[in-house]
Amino acid sequence: MAREPILSLRKVSRSYTEADRELVILRDADFVLGKGEMVALVAPSGAGKSTLLHTAGLLERPDQGDVKLSGRDCGTLSDDERTAIRRNDVGFVYQFHHLLPEFSALENVMLPQMIRGLPKSAAMKRAQQLLDYMKVGKRASHRPSELSGGEQQRVAIARAVANAPLVLLADEPTGNLDPETASYVFAALEALVRQSGLSAMIATHNHDLARRMDRCVTLKDGKVIDIVP
Ligand code: ADP
Repeated sequence: MAREPILSLRKVSRSYTEADRELVILRDADFVLGKGEMVALVAPSGAGKSTLLHTAGLLERPDQGDVKLSGRDCGTLSDDERTAIRRNDVGFVYQFHHLLPEFSALENVMLPQMIRGLPKSAAMKRAQQLLDYMKVGKRASHRPSELSGGEQQRVAIARAVANAPLVLLADEPTGNLDPETASYVFAALEALVRQSGLSAMIATHNHDLARRMDRCVTLKDGKVIDIVP
Protein backbone atom coordinates (compact mmCIF):
# COMPACT_ATOMS: atom_id res chain seq x y z
CA MET A 1 0.00 0.00 0.00
CA ALA A 2 1.35 3.44 -0.93
CA ARG A 3 2.39 5.59 1.99
CA GLU A 4 0.75 8.90 2.64
CA PRO A 5 3.04 11.64 1.26
CA ILE A 6 4.62 13.93 3.83
CA LEU A 7 7.00 15.85 1.57
CA SER A 8 6.60 16.30 -2.13
CA LEU A 9 8.50 18.15 -4.81
CA ARG A 10 6.75 18.69 -8.11
CA LYS A 11 8.46 19.89 -11.26
CA VAL A 12 11.18 21.56 -9.24
CA SER A 13 13.95 23.33 -11.13
CA ARG A 14 17.05 24.99 -9.77
CA SER A 15 20.10 26.29 -11.54
CA TYR A 16 23.08 28.42 -10.63
CA THR A 17 24.98 30.86 -12.76
CA GLU A 18 28.70 30.33 -12.65
CA ALA A 19 31.09 32.41 -14.74
CA ASP A 20 28.33 33.29 -17.21
CA ARG A 21 27.40 29.63 -17.52
CA GLU A 22 24.10 28.21 -16.38
CA LEU A 23 24.54 25.16 -14.22
CA VAL A 24 21.29 23.20 -14.15
CA ILE A 25 21.06 21.10 -10.99
CA LEU A 26 17.35 20.23 -10.87
CA ARG A 27 15.14 20.19 -13.94
CA ASP A 28 11.43 19.45 -13.48
CA ALA A 29 12.37 17.09 -10.68
CA ASP A 30 9.64 15.15 -8.89
CA PHE A 31 10.07 13.44 -5.56
CA VAL A 32 7.71 12.14 -2.88
CA LEU A 33 8.72 11.11 0.62
CA GLY A 34 6.11 8.94 2.31
CA LYS A 35 5.15 9.10 5.96
CA GLY A 36 7.54 6.96 7.98
CA GLU A 37 9.71 6.31 4.95
CA MET A 38 13.50 6.37 4.99
CA VAL A 39 15.04 7.22 1.63
CA ALA A 40 18.71 7.24 0.73
CA LEU A 41 19.97 9.88 -1.69
CA VAL A 42 23.07 8.48 -3.36
CA ALA A 43 24.88 10.57 -5.94
CA PRO A 44 28.43 11.75 -6.63
CA SER A 45 29.80 14.95 -5.17
CA GLY A 46 28.52 17.98 -7.04
CA ALA A 47 25.46 16.18 -8.38
CA GLY A 48 23.11 18.38 -6.37
CA LYS A 49 22.31 16.44 -3.19
CA SER A 50 22.65 19.49 -0.94
CA THR A 51 20.62 21.59 -3.37
CA LEU A 52 17.83 19.02 -3.29
CA LEU A 53 17.89 18.72 0.51
CA HIS A 54 18.00 22.50 0.99
CA THR A 55 15.11 22.97 -1.42
CA ALA A 56 13.09 20.20 0.24
CA GLY A 57 13.85 21.65 3.68
CA LEU A 58 12.83 25.19 2.71
CA LEU A 59 16.33 26.59 3.11
CA GLU A 60 16.32 27.51 -0.57
CA ARG A 61 13.50 28.39 -2.90
CA PRO A 62 13.37 26.59 -6.25
CA ASP A 63 13.42 28.67 -9.43
CA GLN A 64 10.26 26.85 -10.42
CA GLY A 65 8.04 24.11 -9.08
CA ASP A 66 6.25 23.27 -5.85
CA VAL A 67 7.43 22.01 -2.50
CA LYS A 68 4.69 20.66 -0.25
CA LEU A 69 5.18 19.68 3.34
CA SER A 70 2.34 17.85 5.03
CA GLY A 71 0.01 18.95 2.23
CA ARG A 72 0.91 22.61 2.60
CA ASP A 73 2.21 24.43 -0.46
CA CYS A 74 5.32 26.19 0.82
CA GLY A 75 6.12 28.13 -2.35
CA THR A 76 3.49 30.78 -1.71
CA LEU A 77 4.51 31.39 1.90
CA SER A 78 6.52 34.36 3.16
CA ASP A 79 10.09 33.91 4.37
CA ASP A 80 8.89 34.19 7.99
CA GLU A 81 6.28 31.49 7.48
CA ARG A 82 8.84 29.24 5.84
CA THR A 83 11.24 29.81 8.72
CA ALA A 84 8.52 28.83 11.21
CA ILE A 85 7.75 25.61 9.30
CA ARG A 86 11.45 24.81 9.00
CA ARG A 87 11.96 25.32 12.72
CA ASN A 88 9.02 23.15 13.73
CA ASP A 89 8.66 20.54 11.03
CA VAL A 90 12.10 19.96 9.54
CA GLY A 91 15.21 18.60 11.23
CA PHE A 92 18.61 18.91 9.57
CA VAL A 93 21.78 16.94 10.16
CA TYR A 94 24.96 17.83 8.31
CA GLN A 95 28.27 16.10 7.71
CA PHE A 96 29.84 18.40 10.28
CA HIS A 97 27.91 18.55 13.55
CA HIS A 98 27.56 22.38 13.80
CA LEU A 99 26.93 22.13 17.53
CA LEU A 100 27.42 25.35 19.48
CA PRO A 101 30.89 24.99 21.02
CA GLU A 102 30.27 26.99 24.19
CA PHE A 103 27.26 24.89 25.24
CA SER A 104 27.07 21.36 26.60
CA ALA A 105 25.55 18.50 24.61
CA LEU A 106 22.41 18.76 26.76
CA GLU A 107 22.11 22.51 26.20
CA ASN A 108 22.59 22.07 22.47
CA VAL A 109 19.54 19.80 22.40
CA MET A 110 17.57 22.04 24.78
CA LEU A 111 18.08 25.27 22.83
CA PRO A 112 15.84 24.62 19.80
CA GLN A 113 13.06 23.58 22.15
CA MET A 114 13.43 26.72 24.26
CA ILE A 115 13.53 28.91 21.15
CA ARG A 116 10.22 27.31 20.27
CA GLY A 117 8.84 28.29 23.67
CA LEU A 118 9.12 25.13 25.77
CA PRO A 119 9.91 25.72 29.47
CA LYS A 120 13.48 24.96 30.48
CA SER A 121 12.60 21.95 32.66
CA ALA A 122 10.58 20.26 29.90
CA ALA A 123 13.30 20.98 27.33
CA MET A 124 15.92 19.52 29.66
CA LYS A 125 13.90 16.36 30.25
CA ARG A 126 13.36 15.74 26.55
CA ALA A 127 16.98 16.56 25.73
CA GLN A 128 18.23 14.01 28.24
CA GLN A 129 15.78 11.38 26.93
CA LEU A 130 16.95 11.94 23.37
CA LEU A 131 20.62 11.81 24.33
CA ASP A 132 19.95 8.60 26.26
CA TYR A 133 18.16 7.18 23.24
CA MET A 134 21.15 8.06 21.07
CA LYS A 135 23.35 6.33 23.68
CA VAL A 136 25.24 9.50 24.48
CA GLY A 137 23.33 10.43 27.63
CA LYS A 138 26.35 9.96 29.88
CA ARG A 139 28.15 12.68 27.93
CA ALA A 140 25.33 15.23 28.36
CA SER A 141 27.35 17.73 30.39
CA HIS A 142 30.29 17.75 27.98
CA ARG A 143 30.95 20.38 25.38
CA PRO A 144 31.23 19.29 21.73
CA SER A 145 35.04 19.59 21.73
CA GLU A 146 35.18 16.96 24.49
CA LEU A 147 33.19 14.43 22.45
CA SER A 148 34.33 12.00 19.77
CA GLY A 149 33.19 12.45 16.17
CA GLY A 150 30.56 9.74 16.55
CA GLU A 151 29.28 11.25 19.80
CA GLN A 152 29.10 14.71 18.24
CA GLN A 153 26.97 13.36 15.40
CA ARG A 154 24.67 11.53 17.80
CA VAL A 155 24.14 14.80 19.70
CA ALA A 156 23.53 16.60 16.39
CA ILE A 157 20.88 14.00 15.51
CA ALA A 158 19.23 14.42 18.92
CA ARG A 159 19.19 18.17 18.37
CA ALA A 160 17.68 17.79 14.88
CA VAL A 161 14.71 15.85 16.26
CA ALA A 162 14.37 17.89 19.48
CA ASN A 163 11.21 19.63 18.25
CA ALA A 164 9.71 16.39 16.90
CA PRO A 165 9.87 17.42 13.23
CA LEU A 166 7.83 15.72 10.52
CA VAL A 167 10.82 15.25 8.29
CA LEU A 168 14.51 14.66 8.93
CA LEU A 169 16.93 15.70 6.19
CA ALA A 170 20.50 14.58 6.54
CA ASP A 171 23.41 15.55 4.32
CA GLU A 172 26.04 12.80 4.61
CA PRO A 173 25.60 12.56 8.38
CA THR A 174 28.20 9.82 8.72
CA GLY A 175 30.51 11.07 5.97
CA ASN A 176 33.25 12.15 8.39
CA LEU A 177 33.25 8.97 10.44
CA ASP A 178 35.20 5.74 10.14
CA PRO A 179 33.10 2.81 8.84
CA GLU A 180 32.50 1.19 12.23
CA THR A 181 31.45 4.46 13.88
CA ALA A 182 29.35 5.35 10.83
CA SER A 183 27.49 2.06 11.14
CA TYR A 184 26.90 2.59 14.86
CA VAL A 185 25.69 6.19 14.41
CA PHE A 186 23.48 5.16 11.51
CA ALA A 187 21.94 2.36 13.58
CA ALA A 188 21.01 4.87 16.28
CA LEU A 189 19.57 7.23 13.66
CA GLU A 190 17.64 4.42 12.04
CA ALA A 191 16.18 3.26 15.37
CA LEU A 192 15.10 6.79 16.17
CA VAL A 193 13.43 7.28 12.79
CA ARG A 194 11.68 3.90 12.93
CA GLN A 195 10.56 4.27 16.52
CA SER A 196 9.23 7.81 16.15
CA GLY A 197 7.57 7.35 12.76
CA LEU A 198 9.67 10.18 11.34
CA SER A 199 10.22 10.43 7.61
CA ALA A 200 13.80 10.85 6.49
CA MET A 201 15.87 11.59 3.44
CA ILE A 202 19.53 10.86 3.95
CA ALA A 203 22.30 11.67 1.50
CA THR A 204 25.11 9.18 1.75
CA HIS A 205 28.02 7.81 -0.23
CA ASN A 206 27.88 4.63 1.77
CA HIS A 207 26.09 1.91 -0.24
CA ASP A 208 25.88 -0.45 2.75
CA LEU A 209 23.94 2.18 4.70
CA ALA A 210 21.84 3.06 1.66
CA ARG A 211 20.72 -0.56 1.35
CA ARG A 212 19.36 -0.45 4.90
CA MET A 213 16.80 2.21 3.93
CA ASP A 214 13.39 1.65 2.33
CA ARG A 215 14.33 3.11 -1.02
CA CYS A 216 17.29 4.67 -2.81
CA VAL A 217 17.21 7.55 -5.24
CA THR A 218 19.83 9.42 -7.24
CA LEU A 219 20.04 12.55 -9.36
CA LYS A 220 20.31 12.14 -13.10
CA ASP A 221 19.88 14.87 -15.72
CA GLY A 222 18.28 17.07 -13.08
CA LYS A 223 15.70 14.45 -12.09
CA VAL A 224 15.31 12.32 -8.98
CA ILE A 225 15.17 8.68 -9.99
CA ASP A 226 14.86 5.43 -8.07
CA ILE A 227 17.88 3.11 -8.07
CA VAL A 228 18.97 -0.18 -6.57
CA PRO A 229 22.17 0.57 -4.61
P1 ADP B 1 26.35 17.80 -3.75
O1 ADP B 1 25.67 18.06 -2.43
O2 ADP B 1 25.81 16.60 -4.47
O3 ADP B 1 27.84 17.75 -3.62
P2 ADP B 1 25.55 20.53 -4.39
O4 ADP B 1 24.07 20.61 -4.35
O5 ADP B 1 26.30 21.08 -3.21
O6 ADP B 1 26.02 19.04 -4.71
O7 ADP B 1 26.08 21.33 -5.66
C1 ADP B 1 25.70 20.98 -6.99
C2 ADP B 1 26.45 21.88 -7.95
O8 ADP B 1 25.96 23.22 -7.84
C3 ADP B 1 27.93 21.95 -7.71
O9 ADP B 1 28.57 21.99 -8.96
C4 ADP B 1 28.12 23.24 -6.98
O10 ADP B 1 29.38 23.80 -7.24
C5 ADP B 1 27.01 24.10 -7.53
N1 ADP B 1 26.51 25.08 -6.56
C6 ADP B 1 25.94 24.78 -5.37
N2 ADP B 1 25.56 25.91 -4.73
C7 ADP B 1 25.90 26.94 -5.55
C8 ADP B 1 25.77 28.36 -5.47
N3 ADP B 1 25.19 28.94 -4.42
N4 ADP B 1 26.24 29.10 -6.51
C9 ADP B 1 26.81 28.50 -7.58
N5 ADP B 1 26.95 27.17 -7.74
C10 ADP B 1 26.51 26.40 -6.72
